[in-house]
Amino acid sequence: MAYNDFNMDSHWLPFTPNRQFRKEPRVFTGADGMVFTTHDGRKVVDGISSLWCVGAGHNRKPINEAIKKQLDTLDYATAFQASNDQAFKAAGMIAAMAPGDLNKVLFCNSGSEAADTSLKVALAYHRARGEGHRNVFIGREKGYHGVGFGGMSVGGIPANRKVFGPALLPRVDHLRFIHDPANAYIHNREPESQEDFLAELETRILPLHDPSNVAAIIVEPIAGSAGWYIPPKGYLKRLREICDKHGILLIFDEVITGFGRMGTNFGADFYDVVPDMLNFAKAVTNGVIPMGGVICRDRIYDQMMKTDAAEHIIEFFHGYTYSGHPVAAAAAIATLDLYQQENLFARAGEMGKVLGDAFHSTFKGLPNVIGIRSLGLAAAVELAPIAGSPGKRAFEIYLDCFRKGALVRPAGDVLVIAPPYIVEKQHIDTLVNTLADSVKAHA
Ligand code: PMP
Repeated sequence: MAYNDFNMDSHWLPFTPNRQFRKEPRVFTGADGMVFTTHDGRKVVDGISSLWCVGAGHNRKPINEAIKKQLDTLDYATAFQASNDQAFKAAGMIAAMAPGDLNKVLFCNSGSEAADTSLKVALAYHRARGEGHRNVFIGREKGYHGVGFGGMSVGGIPANRKVFGPALLPRVDHLRFIHDPANAYIHNREPESQEDFLAELETRILPLHDPSNVAAIIVEPIAGSAGWYIPPKGYLKRLREICDKHGILLIFDEVITGFGRMGTNFGADFYDVVPDMLNFAKAVTNGVIPMGGVICRDRIYDQMMKTDAAEHIIEFFHGYTYSGHPVAAAAAIATLDLYQQENLFARAGEMGKVLGDAFHSTFKGLPNVIGIRSLGLAAAVELAPIAGSPGKRAFEIYLDCFRKGALVRPAGDVLVIAPPYIVEKQHIDTLVNTLADSVKAHA
């Protein structure tokens, strides 16, 4: 099928330079395992799990079969004032996988909705405790929490904010970004750092807002969309301690780090820190059907149920038509079963080491390379930007890789590879060598 067989008039692509795309369309028409087929009949290796989603690889029969069966059994049922059996089962499985007393799952349909849901839970929880004045949120510079107004407000990627700045939530502050230039190279480990990235939280941010007004701090355990920036050892534990000291809720946005990417169930397990809320999406259904959610600690739910209002009154005024959709929930159940049956999280941990080794041995010393970071099943190579054109070099490299059959992810001037957990060494070699050839060709 030639690309001009498509009517390209109507589809406005998200987060895509549409003018460039229309000159050089990249259209997938099939996928199996690690490999896509494109509209023009080429094969492209999925080096980014289709945006951190497809942990088990593409076209997995147990997931497909579960979805088909669910469609024939219960296609959809309202999520309000009633529910469906699949949603309960999926929630139970997710809660059982989550650490500590993270036991109550509020479903939604995406990472953006999870971010906004978690911020709203924080406000409602504090209000239920008689601390409705707690309405300040703290995110982190370069954080990404989706595109809702809440997530955008606590997020900190400048390009995502600049157009919308004046309309964002007003009572928001941001932690310093966690990158220490002395740690430009991080090889399959947590870095040590002399920099105290949390000092400013205690010396400026909390005194400025008064800690008793702060509802929640939200961070990604590893800054994914910014380009896989890894916090120094002890950072998240200390953040937990500071939150506990001041009664502030800690939210981990695990839309990327959740469900296996770190070789563990969640980033929370990898870092041995239990947040008060844990946001997930993407890999929970292998990306096959949209689903997201927020896992809350018992005490949050219990507090919300301790209301004086009559029993017919809704305790938390929030939800989506498709929260816990039975087909999405069936996809989640099948996906989580498959991850377990094939021991795919452990495999992600092992292949992450292979990927990290390949990155460090291949990219070190190549032209323009100013950093290489690997941990879990993801690795990033950072390039010096072209003066006056940030992101241009990485985008051109991304295009070049695509033409040569490798899907990688540009994030500013960083290129990231984060393949499905089923990845084999041969795919890693193809992805890394293709990327390295492009990096050299764009010197
Ligand atoms: N949070 C994080 C950490 C993410 O990486 C993403 C998406 N990349 C989101 C939230 C937003 O998810 P969605 O695109 O499903 O709304």
